[in-house]
Amino acid sequence: MLICPSMLSADSSRYGEELADAEKAGADAIHWDIADGVFTDAITFGHQIVKDHRKLSSLRFDVHLMIENPDKHLENFARAGADVIIVHPETCKHLHRTLLNIKSLGLKSGAALNPATPVAAVEYCVDILDTVTVMSVNPGASGREFIDSQLKKISELKKMLPPSTEICADGGITDLTIKECAKRGANSFVSGSYIFRNPNRSDAVRRLREACG
Ligand code: ZN
Repeated sequence: MLICPSMLSADSSRYGEELADAEKAGADAIHWDIADGVFTDAITFGHQIVKDHRKLSSLRFDVHLMIENPDKHLENFARAGADVIIVHPETCKHLHRTLLNIKSLGLKSGAALNPATPVAAVEYCVDILDTVTVMSVNPGASGREFIDSQLKKISELKKMLPPSTEICADGGITDLTIKECAKRGANSFVSGSYIFRNPNRSDAVRRLREACG
């Protein structure tokens, strides 16, 4: 079970300390939500911020690109220190080729499914996907409510994907929702507000781990 705090919910005036705090609390990976203000309403981070924080942590860096034309930015994020790059099928004209491009940079490849996007969007890419993310909220902002209908999607992916492929739930993860996601086969969890809005991050991470057993 991987617990991946999203920096989107961290205090933006002190990202370095927030990252160190998440690492100390027992996080398995750091999740960077990159939003361009086109595919999503908000604008968040560019590759430079990922690069500057790379030297502060040895944790896995997951870069979740919620941006149009992600191919244009893959090399920059690879050079910035990403270990995993996750793209949305809706933003890729040629998803299969984009996933191969990510892998050719030596990184793990991921696809994220928006709440309205069916598992069929990645069905013919399962052999080149290291992780599939179920967006349990609509993308682009932190603190949104978990969408229950996405639990069924996790079950569908569990049936469709090889056992080694990571299944990640991203958004609205709490000690209650994580249990439901884990029960259906998710083994990686992106949590923003639940961790960063808790003054005791170790306690938040421990509660999440305990809840998913
Ligand atoms: Zn994300």
